[in-house]
Amino acid sequence: MTNSDSDNTAVEQSVEQSVEGGGCACGAVRYALTGTPITVHACHCTDCQRMSGSAFAMNAWIEKSRVELLSGALASRTLPAGKGTSTTHFCPQCGTSILTEYSSPKFWFVRATTLDNQQAFTPDIHIWTRSKQPWLHLPDGVPVFEAYYDREQVWPPDSLARYHAALV
Ligand SMILES: [Zn+2]
Ligand SMILES: [Zn+2]
Repeated sequence: MTNSDSDNTAVEQSVEQSVEGGGCACGAVRYALTGTPITVHACHCTDCQRMSGSAFAMNAWIEKSRVELLSGALASRTLPAGKGTSTTHFCPQCGTSILTEYSSPKFWFVRATTLDNQQAFTPDIHIWTRSKQPWLHLPDGVPVFEAYYDREQVWPPDSLARYHAALV
C-alpha cells in the first residue's frame, strides 16, 4: 500500500466517524451515530404519545451497525406494537428511552431528541397522523400518512438501497 492509499483510508474513516453524539438525561448512557439516518419519522401513534408523554416521538431509522454504545448499559422492555412487538432500550438509572427495535433486528429507531444536538434532524415523514394532537399543524411539503406507508413508494433511492443492503 502506498502512502497516498493509506491517506485516503484515513480520510474515509474520519468521514465515517461519529456524526452525532447523544445520551440519556442522567449522562450514564452515551452513544454515537456513525452515519445519518435512513429516514426520520415523527410518529403520532397513541403508543408513542403515551410512552413519550408528548405529542409524538421522533425516531431516526438507522442500521444497527451505525449506532455505537459508548458508555452505560441499557435495560429493555418489550410491548405489543401493531401486529408485532417493540423493544425499547432505556437507561435504567433515569429511564430515558434511547433505542427501539420494531419488526427488523437489523435496525434501530433512535429517539432523535436524545442527541446532543436536539435539532440535528427534522422529520422526513409523519405517520399515524389520524391520532395526531389536533392543535399541531404539520409543515407543508413533508409526506404525511394517516397510518403507515409503503417505503418503496415514498423513500428516495439511496434510502431504499441502504435498507435493502442492511437486510442481506
Ligand atoms: Zn440515564
Ligand atoms: Zn408510534
